[in-house]
Amino acid sequence: MMNNVTVIGAGLAGCEAAWQLANNGIKVKLIEMKPLKKTAAHKSDFFAELVCSNSLKASRIDSAAGLLKEEMRRLGSVCLSVTDECSVAAGGALAVDRDIFSKLITEKIKSHPNITVINDVVEKLPVDTVTVVATGPLTDTKLAEDIALLCKSENLSFFDAAAPIVTAESIDMNVAFKASRYGKGTDDYINCPFDKDEYTAFHNELISAESAPLKDFDKPVTVYEGCMPIEILAKRGDDSIRFGPLKPVGLRDPRTDKRPWAVVQLRKENAEGSLYNLVGFQTNLKFPEQKRVFSMIPGLENAEFVRFGVMHRNTFINSPKLLNSDLSLKCNNNIFFAGQLSGVEGYMESAASGIIAGINAAARLCGKEPLILPKYTMIGALLSYICDETVENFQPMGANFGILPPLEEKIRDKRERYMALAERSLEWF
Ligand SMILES: Cc1cc2nc3c(=O)[nH]c(=O)nc-3n(C[C@H](O)[C@H](O)[C@H](O)COP(=O)(O)OP(=O)(O)OC[C@H]3O[C@@H](n4cnc5c(N)ncnc54)[C@H](O)[C@@H]3O)c2cc1C
Repeated sequence: MMNNVTVIGAGLAGCEAAWQLANNGIKVKLIEMKPLKKTAAHKSDFFAELVCSNSLKASRIDSAAGLLKEEMRRLGSVCLSVTDECSVAAGGALAVDRDIFSKLITEKIKSHPNITVINDVVEKLPVDTVTVVATGPLTDTKLAEDIALLCKSENLSFFDAAAPIVTAESIDMNVAFKASRYGKGTDDYINCPFDKDEYTAFHNELISAESAPLKDFDKPVTVYEGCMPIEILAKRGDDSIRFGPLKPVGLRDPRTDKRPWAVVQLRKENAEGSLYNLVGFQTNLKFPEQKRVFSMIPGLENAEFVRFGVMHRNTFINSPKLLNSDLSLKCNNNIFFAGQLSGVEGYMESAASGIIAGINAAARLCGKEPLILPKYTMIGALLSYICDETVENFQPMGANFGILPPLEEKIRDKRERYMALAERSLEWF
């Protein structure tokens, strides 16, 4: 019997998979290419890096993201085991200081007696060990080619985008104001209010600003809607961003005591609150254009941009055709896939699939039955979706209540229904 498992990629999914395996008494070889080589989005040398937003989304269990995290906690998630030590205020959401988050996870992984970390760029899938492939949406090219070869599947790519970050001290707080929508949380966001004329001028510049050129290799097949570049969204209509990321609902400008025409929200980027990101402002505009146009946002006239928005390739496999329900490959069931590469969408979804891939790789090694979570749990529903052979034109899926089977009893009130769905799931755990 093989007594060890190789995990490729120490991102969110790879760390979770390695953690589950190691806690099951299995020796893990965790291979990560950082810092030898970094993708266009990864900047830090630590594992489980959050490459864009620092939010792990809603906390309440009657939200899809909250239920997902609660299920992960109950399965022993390493990512969620550190959040108490690195969370930053973000209203009803769980947001973290990304550096502390990654550092704490890295320490836990590196100090586990069953995990050996190897620094290498993997170019070919191992053929002789049980392996979990968790190299993410920016899987290094040679390995992506090898995966495409083995899976006889096209390598699909599309764009995600990262939002700019500004320093807190450069925001004009005589114009911007602190508040959370509908007074939830403790004034966690900085809000930049527009009147109608300011908004119109900003919108005009945004839709005519110059974008960075795209290489042929990077041409998108599909864009992840949650990471839609702000300038593309703006081109959909005069009010498209005012009803999207710039919606003013639940906010009053203390200077006028009125709801602004539109609002840009900025969320804390680090625990100290010295950096803020522009919520929903993923963009592919050229850097000087970002500076010019985003400085038209009231309160950001003199903003110091410590990071401009960027766009990246995203790779995922055609999981419904390729994966068994335990996340192993149909054509070689010693190889498991996890994370964004396996067709889930989102930080915590990637981590959750890593947990299950780890548990099931351990089960394979020990000759045990795999863990296939029931479809009425959020993780079970998600993985069942990505492994559903009947799905045509597969696109990645994130946690949402729409993928759970309905309750036997009809509940009209949405909040009550979601709570009942959450309770049904958690009873299983
Ligand atoms: C630009 C961008 C922004 C995103 N923004 C968000 C967001 O705001 N919110 C959200 O929920 N989701 C977001 N996502 C989607 C997704 O949640 C993240 O990409 C998430 O990090 C995926 O986790 P993962 O474990 O699958 O991959 P990753 O966290 O990317 O981990 C993969 C690891 O594998 C390593 N690696 C890659 N190739 C090799 C190789 N050949 N050999 C060895 N190591 C290798 C990488 O260095 C990396 O450490 C974003 C994705 C991208 C690309």
